[in-house]
Amino acid sequence: MIALTNERPMCPARKHRMALARISPGERELEERTFECSTCVRTEMLSMSLDPM
Ligand SMILES: [Zn+2]
Repeated sequence: MIALTNERPMCPARKHRMALARISPGERELEERTFECSTCVRTEMLSMSLDPM
């Protein structure tokens, strides 16, 4: 799992634009976002920091 602050990550295979598929609550001030690339049919889970503001 990788941590990014970008809202929309790029597909690691090619520079496809990945779509947000799901958001799951993670640990405190973190949430897990699942992105999927419709071109490669692959998903990436990112741990996102939630801004308390
Ligand atoms: Zn892709």
